[in-house]
Formats: sequence, structure tokens, C-alpha cells
Amino acid sequence: MIVTFATQCDYCRSSIVSGQKWVREKIYDSALNGRDPSYHRYHAEPFAGQEGSCWEKHEMERESARMTVFAA
Ligand SMILES: [Zn+2]
Repeated sequence: MIVTFATQCDYCRSSIVSGQKWVREKIYDSALNGRDPSYHRYHAEPFAGQEGSCWEKHEMERESARMTVFAA
């Protein structure tokens, strides 16, 4: 198990520094029965020049992974 003290964004892999907003997503893992839950962390605000934050991009990727596109 790797313990990191710096908070790291799971999307862009860079650290979340003091003053930046971030969100956390609980990881549901049945293997962790009864143990402390773990979290993914993401930047909540977009970087300068970018349209979406790491969190929004992560959400979009998850949504599109859930979608099934049919063609008539
Ligand atoms: Zn990030």
C-alpha cells in the first residue's frame, strides 16, 4: 500500500495544492469490507485556458462509458 501525504488529482496526476478546490469521489470496493473507504480526488476548477475541470472531464468520461449508442 502506498501512502501519499500530498493530495493528488486522479485525473491529471498532479498534486492539488493549498488553495485549489477539489472534489472527492468515494471508491466502492467490496474487497474493502469494513475498512475505511478510500477516495479519488480531482481538481474542481478548470486550469487557465481549459474548458472543464478534471472532475468534469472525469464525469464526462464516465457518462460516455455508460452510454450505448445505437444507430437506426
Ligand atoms: Zn487535476
